[in-house]
Parts: sequence; C-alpha cells; structure tokens
Amino acid sequence: MKNKQLSPPWLDVTSSSKITKKCEVTTKRIDGFNIQGNKISKEEPLECYYCGCDDIMGIEIIGVAIDEPIIWECKHCNEHMLRFSRAKTERLLQGAPEIDITKEEWEEAWANGPN
Ligand SMILES: [Zn+2]
Ligand SMILES: [Zn+2]
Repeated sequence: MKNKQLSPPWLDVTSSSKITKKCEVTTKRIDGFNIQGNKISKEEPLECYYCGCDDIMGIEIIGVAIDEPIIWECKHCNEHMLRFSRAKTERLLQGAPEIDITKEEWEEAWANGPN
C-alpha cells in the first residue's frame, strides 16, 4: 500500500490566489506575516511546519475583535502559521486600527492592555 503524500503547506497555494495577485495589486495586512500555504491550526501547533521546532507562540494583535492569538509564530525561525482561514485572518486584521506609533509606545500600550 502506498502512503498518501501531502505537499508541504507552503506549496499549498491555490491557483486562484496566484491569478488575483497577477491582476490586481492589493495590500493585505496578512501579507505582513510570513505565512506560507493555507494550513490552519486551531490549537497551538505542536511543532513548526517549517523547521520542526516546538517553540511556538501565539500572536495577538491589538485592536482585533478577539482577545486571543490569531496567528502562531515559531520563535526559532519566525515563520507564521494560520489559526484561522486566510480570509478570516485578514478580516480580523482589517478590524484593527492603523497603528503608527513607535515600538516603545506600542509595547507600553500592550503592557497596560485594555484592562
Ligand atoms: Zn520554525
Ligand atoms: Zn527551528
């Protein structure tokens, strides 16, 4: 019996998304992350899809509708992994206000939190 072979998640790019990129120039906030492929992990991934390390952290974004991580990040290779579909992630990111502050201000705002 042959094993089922799955392509790596970063190769799982649909042809339609390639066409979209060709025809129009859109700036998506999700493009600010190093997300390759469309693999979704609702729970924190046990290991990084890219390098296999188990040092994964959740990325929460200030101002988005949910108070939980919306993206996972490998602390080792800094690649990002989806928690939700790309469309939902983009919708959540679009809901965040434009942030034009310094890193220090950002960290202070983050430390003080919404509470
Ligand atoms: Zn990694
Ligand atoms: Zn690694």
